[in-house]
Amino acid sequence: MGSKGLLERLRNGESVLIAEGYVMEIERRGYLQAGGFVPEVVLEHPEIVEGLHREFIHAGTDVVEALMYFGHREKLRAIGRESDLEKLNRMALKIARDLANETDTLMAGGLCCTTIYDPDNTETHDKIRSIFKEQVEWAVTEGADYMIAETIHSYGEAQLALEAIQQHGKGIPAVITLTCLIPDETTDEVPIAEACRRLEEGGAAVVGLNCGRGPKTMLPALREIRKACKGPIAALPVTYRTKEHCRTWHSLNDPDTGRNVFPKNLACVMSSRDDIREFAEEAKAIGVNYIGLCCGNAPFYFRELAEVYGRKPEASKYSPNLSLNVILEGTNPSLRKLREYAFGTTESND
Ligand SMILES: [Zn+2]
Repeated sequence: MGSKGLLERLRNGESVLIAEGYVMEIERRGYLQAGGFVPEVVLEHPEIVEGLHREFIHAGTDVVEALMYFGHREKLRAIGRESDLEKLNRMALKIARDLANETDTLMAGGLCCTTIYDPDNTETHDKIRSIFKEQVEWAVTEGADYMIAETIHSYGEAQLALEAIQQHGKGIPAVITLTCLIPDETTDEVPIAEACRRLEEGGAAVVGLNCGRGPKTMLPALREIRKACKGPIAALPVTYRTKEHCRTWHSLNDPDTGRNVFPKNLACVMSSRDDIREFAEEAKAIGVNYIGLCCGNAPFYFRELAEVYGRKPEASKYSPNLSLNVILEGTNPSLRKLREYAFGTTESND
């Protein structure tokens, strides 16, 4: 375990920074298939997983989350690899544990949306209980400092995740981050802030939101959650430009063609670095102290967020210094035409 645990860090009034979004980033790198988004990469190219963890540590994350996302029994079964289930989860946890030890960061195990929850069908609840139980047990035996349950959009499924962590987690803290898919409630119709409040009351150490919404459309919900909850709250948006009329990334369209871009063509609606910086400033002002980024996350975004939260990660050594840019700041007269063309500036002939 890191020299300070999750609760200790949060109790001291510190913030905890957490980089997520592994599945999407590894897909972008060509080692994971879009569609099912199952992290077979853990077994097939563990060096890619380890490398990305290292990049996020370099950019300021305090937590290495084991890549168990969509690595649960239901997803492995769907691609015919159920027999690799335990191996994949333990491998993901081992990679994360080793790196956390090396870098004095926290290691978290992860539960996620099972995709089978049906509020009215208790058979699915039993199935989900056993999916969560085995993943919590593997995480505990591989030394997770705490457990995350993420991208869960039903209050009922979030409750099942919290219970599984409490029953099988040997006392490690639970962080529950919901995904708000429809305005502004869980898919089983609990207002989102109320769902967070109940989960906190039920014993979750941190509650909040991850995934689904981009920076702009996550902020209003965070203000509500801050009012409803007493303890630490979490925010990990996707890094895409969601808007009031399309609050989640699923409804984003290509500004040029008008076609829907989820999940293959999201590059045309990516957040800018300034978007991320401004989000982090707002989140900090609201009082979000468990902060990170989900799908779309990349080290250059994460560094922005870390710097707003007062950190100076190793990657800050390479933070932009535009005074060295010859296009923006150069004096070479041959570039004057370009500057006029690009920026519309007219310069004197000095
Ligand atoms: Zn995500």
